[in-house]
Amino acid sequence: MERHRKLAAGNWKMNGLSDHLGEIAALIGSHGDATCEILICPPATLVAPMAAHAGSRIAVGGQDCHAEANGAHTGDISAEMLRDAGATYVITGHSERRADHGESDEAVRAKTEAGWKAGLVVILCIGETLDQREAGETLSVIDGQLAGSVPEGATGDNLVIAYEPVWAIGTGKVPSVEQIAEVHDHIRKTLSERFGTGTADAVRLLYGGSVKPGNASEIFAVDNVDGALVGGASLKADDFGGIISALEG
Ligand code: PEP
Repeated sequence: MERHRKLAAGNWKMNGLSDHLGEIAALIGSHGDATCEILICPPATLVAPMAAHAGSRIAVGGQDCHAEANGAHTGDISAEMLRDAGATYVITGHSERRADHGESDEAVRAKTEAGWKAGLVVILCIGETLDQREAGETLSVIDGQLAGSVPEGATGDNLVIAYEPVWAIGTGKVPSVEQIAEVHDHIRKTLSERFGTGTADAVRLLYGGSVKPGNASEIFAVDNVDGALVGGASLKADDFGGIISALEG
């Protein structure tokens, strides 16, 4: 199976009102014909208007979904609803969800299955805390998260893995290229042992954590890095555009 186009994915988190959609117009103007795939995951309130704005040039995704398609879950949103609003992707297992909402690997797995059932591509996030890295546990944490949260049935069409060291998210701290390479190689190998080399090669592996226009080229030059999941620097078309240009090489 062939690997898909490289992916520049933006996670706006709990940021953005409707007037922020101008950033999408600016991004389409500057990078609408990029060779890599561009995705923005805005807050749920902006999924439908952004999908209408973005047309086919920028994909739109949710930041989380419930494991069920509907029901008595006040305040939650289902994968089916995201799809209905125009999303084609959803993020699961972001460390802020794991920390703020106590999401376990089992919950992330169920949400990932729900995303697939609704026809969404899932960007599943994994990554170690600083304490875990300093204790030399990084690869075993990654192994546990992959085994616990990636469901059977993963393919290059339905799954993207984002390696996001928790200590690098929103902190300005970035792992060395050697550290990124070690983890990305390990993820590819682990996926290959479970799903076969063809599938493992087709699943895109994103790095996430303080990616900026100034450090993106160095990160994208690392083997087995197929793009980035970007928080803060995805909010402004200029910054995100710089990262997209770096990904195009
Ligand atoms: C993220 O939230 O997924 C992220 C990588 O954030 P930042 O780029 O701001 O570190």
